[in-house]
Amino acid sequence: MSAIETPANTSSPKPSQTYTGGCHCGRFKYEVTCSPPLADSEVFECNCSICSRNGYILTYVDDSAINFEKGSIDEYSEHLSANKKYGHYFCPSCGSSCFAGSHDEGPWATMKAVNVRMLQDVDLKGLKIKEIDGKSR
Ligand SMILES: [Zn+2]
Repeated sequence: MSAIETPANTSSPKPSQTYTGGCHCGRFKYEVTCSPPLADSEVFECNCSICSRNGYILTYVDDSAINFEKGSIDEYSEHLSANKKYGHYFCPSCGSSCFAGSHDEGPWATMKAVNVRMLQDVDLKGLKIKEIDGKSR
């Protein structure tokens, strides 16, 4: 290992962590970089009709923080919310629901809600979960 690769020598002002994720059948594989790391931030659980059915635990990242190793966002099947504003992206083969995104313009247009349950090596029980009331919106 060269000196450059030693973690102690990297001086990143914002701590972040990259997680490997994917659907169950392996058709989609990706990396998501979360800043701050999930263990140091809040994740979200929403009570709306689709989130509660799928049991999503969500974190929000910019599209640029998601890197596909296999598949791409366009290859997912998309289920639109009743108001057509939000899309839920799931694998057409195994049904794993990996992301949700907004079709509205504005800051959400270039972001994704990432289903933390699809990421590896995340201590789900150690996460700070914040409940959001999507049902009444
Ligand atoms: Zn799959």
